[in-house]
Amino acid sequence: MSTGIPETVAARSITDWSDEVDVVVAGFGIAGGCAAVEAAARGARVLVLERAGVAGGTTALAGGHFYLGGGTGVQRATGHEDSAEQMYEYLLAVARDPEPEKIRAYCDGSVEHFDWLESLGFEFERSYYPEKAVIQPGTQGLMYTGNEKVWPYRDQAIPAPRGHKVPVAGDTQGAAMIIDLLVKRAAALGVEVRYETGVTNLIADADDAVVGVSWKNLGKTGAVRAKSVVLATGGFVMNSEMVAEHVPWLTEKPFVLGTPFDDGLGIRLGRSAGGETCMMDQAFVTAPVYPPAKLLTGIVVNRNGERFVAEDSYHARTSAFVLDQPGAIAYLIVDSEHMERPNFPLAPFIDGWETVEEMASALGIPYEAL
Ligand SMILES: Cc1cc2nc3c(=O)[nH]c(=O)nc-3n(C[C@H](O)[C@H](O)[C@H](O)COP(=O)(O)OP(=O)(O)OC[C@H]3O[C@@H](n4cnc5c(N)ncnc54)[C@H](O)[C@@H]3O)c2cc1C
Repeated sequence: MSTGIPETVAARSITDWSDEVDVVVAGFGIAGGCAAVEAAARGARVLVLERAGVAGGTTALAGGHFYLGGGTGVQRATGHEDSAEQMYEYLLAVARDPEPEKIRAYCDGSVEHFDWLESLGFEFERSYYPEKAVIQPGTQGLMYTGNEKVWPYRDQAIPAPRGHKVPVAGDTQGAAMIIDLLVKRAAALGVEVRYETGVTNLIADADDAVVGVSWKNLGKTGAVRAKSVVLATGGFVMNSEMVAEHVPWLTEKPFVLGTPFDDGLGIRLGRSAGGETCMMDQAFVTAPVYPPAKLLTGIVVNRNGERFVAEDSYHARTSAFVLDQPGAIAYLIVDSEHMERPNFPLAPFIDGWETVEEMASALGIPYEAL
């Protein structure tokens, strides 16, 4: 795979445009689907080009958790007070490099986003799941998913549950339901979707303004002229060279999730027209050690026997801290009264010992520190 930036094509070199539309969208995952539907609802003529044979992308794998708050229908129905202000304070506190204006817009618009999603034709269940889990196991509409109740964030914003899950049981693929609804809504609004048609280049006029895209469908190629071009082509986790360039600490990754088209082409297309990237070194990494929450009453230590994270943190926060430890190694230590032995494929059970001394010696952790 490549890290190369595709050339932009000069508009004057195109003699035959296959289509002329208001908006062309590259990719029909959740980002492209929402953009297409919203543009069409406001009267634009929209064409979506999707490289795969079906809509969905990585979104179709996702559990279907939406981080929403500020007083959504589910929060109100289940008696959880929340405000856009507290949601903003929390996200500002928890983000490594926060962009306050973006977070403000996200929080101020959150109830509207919730209503917009439901207007696609489903309802989040008006129910609350009180346990700590990665995602609701059933169809429960709401739970705590993040670090809201975890130190130090619980002192920085009033905690509220904001993990809204679509009414599909199970850990993964719930968001495919939203894709199906977006496909239907797009069709009803007259959006044309062409599958197995990948965007290969951006087309620019003499002032370097983007005025369309080139595409490839099996053996055929063509060019679409458009007033607006939306790139919504997902991430780059499947492009090992891009991963090595931007996220070198993940070059030796144990297990990645995504689709083959997560090769970062859309990001490189954006750069071809002068777009800037940011946060390319960020990744969502996880090896959850809950549920059950009971296990989080134990301690997590590194191989020097030191604690380094609040154990009840969001699973991806704990995992990110683990990666910063010597050898990227950590142990969850639980006593017999708080032990349950679930099967965590990414965090295997090691053993049980009668004394802390025996445990320290078996794990190679300095006993005094532990
Ligand atoms: C197992 C799993 C569970 C997850 N659970 C959640 C969750 O519960 N909540 C949450 O918020 N996030 C979750 N995520 C993350 C979430 O799935 C992604 O952040 C999100 O789906 C990205 O959406 P997208 O529209 O940007 O990209 P995608 O859904 O990947 O869509 C991009 C589309 O663009 C197409 N494409 C690529 N290149 C081109 C091209 N050149 N021309 C035309 N089309 C192209 C692709 O084929 C694809 O269809 C999860 C991820 C995984 C893997």
